[in-house]
Amino acid sequence: MNISILAVGTELLMGKTVNTNATYLSEQINALGHNVLYHLTVGDNPVRLKDTLNYLLEHSDMVVTTGGLGPTQDDLTKEVICETLDLKMEKHDLAYNMLIERFKQFNVEMTSNNIKQAYLPIACIPMMNQKGTAPGFIAEKDGKYIAVLPGPPYEMKHMYENSLRPFLEELSDSVIMSEYIHLFGIGESSAESVIDDLITDQSDPTIAMYASVGQVSIRVTSKANDFDTCYERIQNTTAEIVSRLEPYVIGFGETSLLDETIKLLHDNYMTVALAESCTGGMLASELIQFPGASQYFDLGLVTYSNESKMNLLKVEPDILETYGAVSAETCEAMLHGLRHLSFSDVLVSVTGIAGPTGGTPDKPVGLVYIGIMLGDSIQVKKFNFTGDRLTIRKRSMLNAINMIREALKP
Ligand code: AMP
Ligand code: MG
Repeated sequence: MNISILAVGTELLMGKTVNTNATYLSEQINALGHNVLYHLTVGDNPVRLKDTLNYLLEHSDMVVTTGGLGPTQDDLTKEVICETLDLKMEKHDLAYNMLIERFKQFNVEMTSNNIKQAYLPIACIPMMNQKGTAPGFIAEKDGKYIAVLPGPPYEMKHMYENSLRPFLEELSDSVIMSEYIHLFGIGESSAESVIDDLITDQSDPTIAMYASVGQVSIRVTSKANDFDTCYERIQNTTAEIVSRLEPYVIGFGETSLLDETIKLLHDNYMTVALAESCTGGMLASELIQFPGASQYFDLGLVTYSNESKMNLLKVEPDILETYGAVSAETCEAMLHGLRHLSFSDVLVSVTGIAGPTGGTPDKPVGLVYIGIMLGDSIQVKKFNFTGDRLTIRKRSMLNAINMIREALKP
């Protein structure tokens, strides 16, 4: 079924309120296998509401509205809909009793404005509001449906889940399913070139790519008559993508580089200690962002100056003089120094040139060394990152996390 979403409320047009109802409903409705054709927003204005409603009804099988169901003067969605579709209203006992209940519960006097909320179109399906007062409804007119939900997201979601979703499930003859493949260490265009033919030939499943600094995700979506068909198609395409991009795949579904890494630290009962230079604590800050971090995070030092590298990490002045602060040698010496300060299982050191100044022909901006020590084994990797100061620091941080993940993965 083709469905459109109409958000009603002047506050949405004023930029005071973000239209989160539309995102929520779109995601939900698509997952049921229906198509969402339009998102429109209109203020609390009867003429424009009527026009928009007529337009959407002409171009869709169903219009879902949110907002404008309150008892106050400016909330006029129900009245305008009934007028537009020529639907007579009557007092619905179920809605009326629910209102009485609700007001008893809140211990407030019911006004005539509130009683107005119990009037719904004749022959509609009322939708009870378990979180507020305004009931919603589903009405039919000339083979088209209109579903009316309240504006407050909390009320809207409850009503959708309890009343509208079951209704839409009945009407859906297909399902939509998605899988996400998360990659690290490959750019968006490189990843795309590897699966170019799959993207060009796609009809179902469809393949979409999303990229943020250092990370790429591929979404594989299938629409079919039943879950089994969807599942099989997704599995086949996912397997093909994974076979081509295997070394870069870090996980599937609701996960991230950080989630995967923390999970490995947890699973192995391991702790981590850091000596950061150019990332300036960013790595520590990223690793400790979830509650319970003390289980795997031991120590984070920011040894930014040569002095602190010498004083705290006992990096030999000779090493700093001969090879420089940004060198594989210093990076490794930082690990040895950290060993004396922490019993952690995993030690990480980062040193680099974040720029935009401070680069030389030998050591350009973006040159970063990341070291990791696990037991007796030490690995120091050299990177040449591009981007501004923040991007280079972020890439350093993400690659350090990835090195922890690679060191721990089975
Ligand atoms: P209403 O049902 O129009 O009285 O809306 C009540 C409140 O719900 C508004 O003041 C907003 O805070 C919120 N609201 C209404 N529509 C939306 C929407 N589309 N997305 C998010 N919040 C909304
Ligand atoms: Mg309103």
